[in-house]
Formats: sequence, structure tokens, C-alpha cells
Amino acid sequence: MAGEKGKFDIVVEGGTLLTMVEGEQPVHGARVIISGDSIEEVSDCQRGPVPDSEEIINAEGALIMPGLINTHVHSPMTIFRGMADDLPLKTWLFDHIFPAEARHINPDTVYWASLLGCLEMIASGTTTSVDSYFIADGIVKAAAQAGIRALVAQGVIDFPAPGVPDPEENLHVASAFLERWINSSDLITPGLFCHSPLTCSKETLQKAYKISTRFDAPLEIHLSETKEEPVEIKGRTGLRPVFYLDSLGLLNSTLIAAHAIHLDEEEIDLLAKRGVKIAHCPESNMKLGSGIAAVAKMLKKGVTVGLGTDGCASNNDLDLFGEMDTAAKLAKVAALDPTLLDARTVLKMATIEGAGVIGLEDEIGTIETGKKADIIIVDTHTPHMTPMYNPYSQLVYSADGGDVRDVIINGRIVYRDRQFITLESDEIIDEVRRIGQQIGK
Ligand SMILES: [Zn+2]
Repeated sequence: MAGEKGKFDIVVEGGTLLTMVEGEQPVHGARVIISGDSIEEVSDCQRGPVPDSEEIINAEGALIMPGLINTHVHSPMTIFRGMADDLPLKTWLFDHIFPAEARHINPDTVYWASLLGCLEMIASGTTTSVDSYFIADGIVKAAAQAGIRALVAQGVIDFPAPGVPDPEENLHVASAFLERWINSSDLITPGLFCHSPLTCSKETLQKAYKISTRFDAPLEIHLSETKEEPVEIKGRTGLRPVFYLDSLGLLNSTLIAAHAIHLDEEEIDLLAKRGVKIAHCPESNMKLGSGIAAVAKMLKKGVTVGLGTDGCASNNDLDLFGEMDTAAKLAKVAALDPTLLDARTVLKMATIEGAGVIGLEDEIGTIETGKKADIIIVDTHTPHMTPMYNPYSQLVYSADGGDVRDVIINGRIVYRDRQFITLESDEIIDEVRRIGQQIGK
């Protein structure tokens, strides 16, 4: 239905549409009509002249697809991009990242670095992020300003952390965060992020879970990222990490576990049985030498797996196109089987499966009537996108984030012809450069 003035809000006209709906083929010469925050109609251009609309986006020759969903990111860590590379995870974390966080992370740096993260995510086609860190109010403010859809989770850890110098206060701070932001906006969902089973005690994990259920909020955790974690957790508790979390009552369909690398067969079965969601972060896992998650096996067993970039200190960018390419190739080389994680499967992980990770599969992740209008348009008029036989393959194996031309989130254009609409990119880049100079001193 057209708006009050008898006009639709946005019509995306022309181009090849990948709806990402199971079983649907690409639509050539597509037309997507948007009213308010939602998709009103999906058809092809043969349905007559372009309807009356406030905005018409010509997508002729381009690809139209659902916005990408980054299921694991710490956008404030853009501030540490390239600061400490090529180090073992423990050295990287305890000798570099934690001390740098203690010195430099404050509400101001979180806010500006999160804005930078939003710039980078939007410009590379991410329309939804699952973002977690300390002093998470700054992420919420940046995400709201950017107009990006985000699950923002306040970090919980049993060490002194930015904004929480006394770990005794970590759950109080987390609870107050949920209280502040719950139901505050259509686009922002607050959540909690327990750093890991190693850095959070049994009591902390149980209390955090209890608080998250009180607010009906999602809970995130880094799970079995290193090969030491199962050994240490088993030494402490007699159980492998997944069974340990289950014994605490944490395993359920609102738990988002990032990495999930060092799992045995029984642990994968239990994750599937409990409906736990997985954020697969292949580039971070490769760069930190952490290992290779058994994604193909998890998918086969019915586990919902999305893609994540992780923070910029371990990746070092937030480009999900790169992550798709890496995820596909890593699975193939790990099993010496090129048929694993085909392009369409990987594209689903970055869209509809990612939506499933955060329980929003009925609202986003595909382009169909009634869903929220989170849509990206990818330029194909470039050497590396020519010729095009299979758009799914092209997006996964040839495209990069820089090919994204337009981004619509919740029916609002936030990036048009590679120009930011909601954010002042020069100001943000200048400010983060200035902060970086202080950190680098
Ligand atoms: Zn992480």
C-alpha cells in the first residue's frame, strides 16, 4: 500500500535480485517496492511503469540482495586495528589487548571507534551487527546514529575491565545496561556478553544467564576458541566446555557462541540438540592460529551458523565479503573437499542463517514481502565481476566490500552511490586518527 501521499517510499528498479528465499532463483530485471520500514512488493519490471515513489534507485546491471549480518564483532576494537599482530592469542590478549584497553578505552573512544566500525560495516554491506564490548552504551549511541540494526551486548568478565574497574560490579553494570536499552528502539536489541568460560566464573555465568532471561535478552560467549580451553575447563570441572555450560543451564536457543572451534562430536550434537547458535569467525581464527571450526559438520547436524568478523585487532577488517570467501575456502582445504560450503550456502550464512542466529529470521535475512527492508545493491560494472555466470559464486569468490554501492536499513537509505547519508565519514576518520596517534605514542 502506498503512503499517505499516494506514493511509495523507495523503489529499487532493474538489476538481478537474489531473494535468498530457499528454492527461489535469481530475478532478472527486478523491482523491489519499499513502504516505511518494510518490503511492500517484490516483482520484476515487466509489471508496468515504475510506480510513483519518493526515491527510485536504479539498480540496472547491479545485484540486489539482503543486507549482510555480522554475527560477531567488537566494533570499538577498530581503534586497535594493526596495533599488535602476528602474536600467540594469550600474548596478544594479556600483554597487548587487555593493557591497551585499560589505558585507552573510555566512553569517548568506544563511541568514536564504534562510529568508525559502523562506517566500515555499512560501506561493505553489513546491515545488522552483533556487537559486544565494554562500555557498550557508546556502541548503542553510534549504532543509533548510523541507523544500523544491532544487537549490542555489554561485556561481562571477572577481571577489571573498561568501565568496570571492580569485577564485583560486572553484573550490576550489565543489568543496568539492559534496563537502560531494552525496548528503546526498533533497531537496537541489548544483550549480555560473557567473555568466555575461562574468564568468567561459574557463578558469574549463572547470574549473567539469569539476568539475561529476566530481560528476555540474548547471551553471547566466546566458546572453545583455543585448544587450551577444553583442557583447562576439563581440569577445573571434569567436563568439556559445552557440557560444562550445559551443566550450568546456559545452553539454549538464545545463546550465541562465537568461534566454537575445539569441539568433539558429542559437544556438536549437544549444541544441535539445545539449539545453540554459532558465530563462525574464520579470518580471526586463522590470524590468531586458533584452529578451524567444523562448520560443514555443524550445518549437517542442523546447527544454525552465521558469519562474524570478530574485532579489528584480530582480523583486521569488518568486511563480510572477505569472510564469506575465506569461510568457503577454509572448509574446503580443511577437509580436502571442494564441494563443502558452496557459494550459496555461505551466502545464506551471511544473510538468512545470520538472522537465525539472533532469532530475527522472520524479519530480516531474505527479500520478501512483509520483511524489513534491509537491502544492499552491489555494483558489478568492474573487471573482477565480469563476466557473470553465477551471481552467488561471484559474490562469494570475486566481490569485496568495496563493490557495495547502496545500503538500505529498515527502509532508510544510509549509503547511496558510495556516499554516507547518516554519518560524517571525514569527521569520524579524523577523530579516530587523532585517538590512534595518542595510543601510538
Ligand atoms: Zn570476539
